[in-house]
Formats: sequence, C-alpha cells, structure tokens
Amino acid sequence: MVVLVTGGAGFIGSNFIRYALAQDTQAINLDKLTYAGNPDSLSDVEQHPEYTFIQGDIGDSRTVADILERYQPDALVHLAAESHVDRSIDGPAAFIETNIKGTFTLLEEVRQWWDKLPANRKALFRFHHVSTDEVYGTLGETGLFTEETPYAPNSPYSASKAASDHLVRAYHHTYGLPTLTTNCSNNYGPYQFPEKLIPLMILNALEGKQLPVYGTGRNVRDWLYVGDHCRALWTVLTKGKPGETYNIGGNNEKTNLSIVETLCALLDEKRPRLDGKSYCSQVAFVSDRPGHDLRYAIDASKLERELGWKPQETFATGIRKTVDWYLEHREWCRQITNGRYRRERLGLIDGE
Ligand code: NAD
Repeated sequence: MVVLVTGGAGFIGSNFIRYALAQDTQAINLDKLTYAGNPDSLSDVEQHPEYTFIQGDIGDSRTVADILERYQPDALVHLAAESHVDRSIDGPAAFIETNIKGTFTLLEEVRQWWDKLPANRKALFRFHHVSTDEVYGTLGETGLFTEETPYAPNSPYSASKAASDHLVRAYHHTYGLPTLTTNCSNNYGPYQFPEKLIPLMILNALEGKQLPVYGTGRNVRDWLYVGDHCRALWTVLTKGKPGETYNIGGNNEKTNLSIVETLCALLDEKRPRLDGKSYCSQVAFVSDRPGHDLRYAIDASKLERELGWKPQETFATGIRKTVDWYLEHREWCRQITNGRYRRERLGLIDGE
C-alpha cells in the first residue's frame, strides 16, 4: 500500500509515518515545514527505502496534482494543519488558509485525480481526514461527545477544523469520494512541539521557569497517548466504512492542574531540583484563555464496537514514557525551540 501523509513532519504525523512504515507500507510525506514541522522527528527513518519526503504546501494545487500523478497513492491521511489554539487567537488567518482553503485544494485535486481511476482502484481509495474533538465545543460537568453531537466550535482553530470536516463530508455525499473522518481528543507523547501543555511544562520545569496554568486550572481534557492514536488511525484507514466518522479518545479525563501536578511529581522523582523543593513551586496561575472551553470528553465506543480498537496505554504508563522521552531528547527540544533545524535546512548555519 502507498499512503500519502500530509503534515508528516509534525507531532502526530511523524509518529504515524513511523507506524505506517512498520506495517510494510510506502509512506510519502508532504509537509510545508512550518514552525511546527521538523524533519529531525523522522531522522531515524530518513534512509528507509519506503519513505519519501516532499516539502510542499497542501494549498498548492500543482504540487498536490503532481504528487498524486507520480505516486498513485492507495490512501491519503490528512494531518497537515495549523494546530495551536493560542496561535489561532493571536492570528487566525493562517488557520483559515491551511485548515480550510488548504483542505479544499487537497480535496479538489484528489477528487479530479480519483475520478479518472479505474473502478476497482476508485472503490479502494481512502481519504482519511484527521480532526479534533474541539469541533463539538464544550461540555458541562457531565456528558460525552458522540459522533452525533452537533458541532459548536468556540476558537478560530476549532472553527477552521469544523469547516474542513464539513468539506470532507460534502465531498463524500456530493462526489462519492471514499472519505473517513476521525475526531480525537488531546494527544501527548514523543515529538510534540514544546508549545503544547505537556512538553511546555516539562521543559519549563527543567529550565527553572514558571509553569503557567490558565485560570484556576480546572478545565478538563481527555488525553490519549499518540501511539494509541496512530493505531486508531491505522484501524480506521484499513477497516473503516467510507463516509463514516469515528471518535477517538483515551478515557483519561484530567484537569489541566492535575496534569501539571503529575508532571511535577514525576520530575521530582526522576530529576529532583537541587534545592530539594518540588517543581510544583514553579506553578503560576495566569489569566484565562479567551473562549476557554470548560470540558471535553469523548465517547469512543463506536470505534471499539465496530472496528475493535481501544487504547493500550493508561495515562499513568503513557505519561511516564513521555517524561522519560523528553528527558532523553533534550537536544531535539533545544533545536526545535531555537529554530536551528530550519536555518540549517535553509543553509543559513555555516560552522556555527
Ligand atoms: P503539528 O502542528 O505538530 O503538525 C502539523 C504539521 O503540518 C507540521 O509538520 C506542519 O509543517 C504541517 N503543515 C502546516 N501547514 C501546512 C501546509 N499548508 N501544507 C503542508 N503541511 C503543512 O500538529 P499535530 O498536533 O501533529 O496535529 C496533526 C493533526 O491532528 C491536525 O490536523 C490536528 O488538527 C489534528 N489533531 C491534533 C490533536 C493533538 O492533540 N495534537 C488532537 C486531535 C486532532
């Protein structure tokens, strides 16, 4: 099988490409390499005979058309996106450009190419759109998001993802494109860009910086280990029914504050501060994010019932692995935060 992955140099994409290669699949990675894309995250598979990297924009129809013609993929897994809620509040334009217009361009190029395929290949092709539970808006103290929950996005990020989900749905219903959509809760694990909660807190703690917690820290998210997400994506890609949507979640509802406290406890155990204080002493409550959703929680029973997937990691096992990974990969973190790898790729670092 040949899989075209968009956004494969990002957090989930790099984990997914590694997973796909391990399933004897050829993986073509189309990534623009924005600030969030890092080819170093795939340095261990760079020389793999079944792996190809192409730097390009999903919003560039010519690039997309050429890749489809050249590689004739059996499936496309669409992960490329602007993905950080805070950045969408500061500057929504890039989110509209990539998440909505980019997804539209991708769908349109795929549709035109797919339409000319022979009937047997046409039926087997899959366009798998990777989305978020944030499209459903916020929950109160109780309840779970199901695949039937009405969309009610509250941030420019979730609104742009909701728009892309609707476009994917329309391409299935209007043109018959065999699409799959998955809506997943918050991921954590190796190779996550250190602006997101878990890596940010680990690195700030180790660097003696404040651990900023929004509001009272009581906002609740469901957390899923990225390896479990990749297995779920693979399950849906290979067994899912075209036109369907599947929710993916970890059954791990946690307040933001409890996440930070867990990380501090693990770091106290593994890398104690020299002054003997707990890393919790670095916690600082900061003014809340505008439009901050109170609670997200996922009902992933459809995926378990129909396709037999459930998470393998508990939060306790997954978060321990994650902390260990960040402690062992400080250089990866340093390079991604100081932008060195991007300047190197552009040839700007000369014997620095
Ligand atoms: P990420 O920000 O780490 O990676 C995004 C990747 O997309 C980067 O490599 C970036 O260079 C690339 N990209 C951005 N714009 C592009 C463009 N125009 N053309 C080509 N490539 C482009 O994101 P992530 O956390 O890995 O998320 C991947 C996908 O999964 C996103 O669609 C996101 O909405 C979705 N998702 C993420 C989570 C999560 O917790 N991280 C949860 C549910 C769903």
